[in-house]
Amino acid sequence: CFCKLNGVIDDCSCTVDTVDYFNNAKIYPRLQSLLVRDYFRFFKVNLNRPCPFWVDDSKCAMRYCHVQPCKEKDIPVGLKGADVPRHIHINESPVDKYKANQQTSDCNQNSDHNIELGYLNTTISSETYAGFERWQQHDDSLDNFCITENDGGEYVDLLLNPERYTGYKGPSAHRIWRSIYMENCFRPETSTKNTFIRSSKIDDMCLEKRAFYRVISGLHTSINIHLSSKYLLSSQNRLDVSPEGTWGPNFDEFQRRFSPETTDGEGPNWLKNLYFIYMLELRALAKAAPYLQKLEYYTGNQIEDKDTRLAVNDILNIVSSFSEHFNESVMFNGGSEAQLLKDEFKQHFRNISRIMDCVGCDKCRLWGKLQTQGLGTALKILFSGAFDKYEPTLLDFGKQRFSLERTEIVSLINGFGRLSESIFELEKFRKIMR
Ligand code: FAD
Repeated sequence: CFCKLNGVIDDCSCTVDTVDYFNNAKIYPRLQSLLVRDYFRFFKVNLNRPCPFWVDDSKCAMRYCHVQPCKEKDIPVGLKGADVPRHIHINESPVDKYKANQQTSDCNQNSDHNIELGYLNTTISSETYAGFERWQQHDDSLDNFCITENDGGEYVDLLLNPERYTGYKGPSAHRIWRSIYMENCFRPETSTKNTFIRSSKIDDMCLEKRAFYRVISGLHTSINIHLSSKYLLSSQNRLDVSPEGTWGPNFDEFQRRFSPETTDGEGPNWLKNLYFIYMLELRALAKAAPYLQKLEYYTGNQIEDKDTRLAVNDILNIVSSFSEHFNESVMFNGGSEAQLLKDEFKQHFRNISRIMDCVGCDKCRLWGKLQTQGLGTALKILFSGAFDKYEPTLLDFGKQRFSLERTEIVSLINGFGRLSESIFELEKFRKIMR
């Protein structure tokens, strides 16, 4: 079967089989129960930003593209207003008090900043705090691989809006993918212009450039596996199905998208790229684990928050035991040239995160934004240098420069959850083929 992939994952040191076992038996079930928790379920996103690259294809009015907004009463009190992922055991400083005073119950307020301020003493005023926050944002933005959403946005309940088939296709969807691959991916010099990159040419590029292509292709694979495994099998117009329609795996759709016959031999390589991005994000989670394990995951409900922390710790311990198969330290080594390459890499990725504002289907835009932000957060953890020497005992802002906003943490874990589910769904398609 074309979807039975063999051998070692490119540029990693483990096989597809090992990842299948590790993910399906250990990671996937745990992530499923973590991602329904309140801290991870509500994602703040601005779906109304204009497309910066071309005139919008007027937002798609397809029924299944609709994003259901969250209900104010469902948003946990701890996520409203100034939402700051805090370290456990942090002593409340005047700044914490300042932030607490700023809390409001506005569902749409944008104040998703993470600030580690344990060292500040009692003399701080709110003006200095505002200036300090601006500087921190400036410093952080240099590390970012993604454009962060600092201009508004609304909470969306991800459980009410699952990623699945929407019917978004045709010129609008193709323009997005073409622009990503043709204008914002690195290309082998030997490849023909204005065509999709052939997998056989990927090795003509250096490690960093092929890694870039593989993560994008792996993300594309994941999106297309989701829409094939949660396909609209029958619409609401039928009387014998639920008013919402019936959703389930569509094997023909999956085969059309990934079999060698229908993809000029490329499908299995695209499937393998899913494993590459999975290993990269897994490595980022392991690297940030000492930091993530110290956060409160505050929603305002003590029992819920404690359970969330336990579940996060459990997953991160397992992830860390498997993370040596991807080695980011061999990338971007080699002085000023490497730095230039890294800047270019960052620029390309930022462009891709902007392109998500051009996606003409709200539901696809929501999940596209979440997943590119999750990937951008993973790249920041791996390559900004800020997480290289994390020391849990050094919380002082002056000594230790690192921070993640809540939205980055939510997108990182949910984005990894999407990849984990794709690997799980792929196994189900394999079983159908047997
Ligand atoms: P496409 O998937 O549009 O691919 C275009 C071309 O890219 C292919 O012809 C092929 O040459 C190449 N290609 C395909 N797969 C890969 C790969 N993995 N690696 C490298 N090259 C590849 N639709 C939904 O139903 N639900 C969603 O949630 C959804 N989310 C989306 C999110 C984004 C950001 C985008 C851009 C699109 C989304 N779509 C979604 C649409 C979906 O991805 C397809 O574009 C659509 O179904 C049309 O598919 P297609 O067969 O024409 O090929």
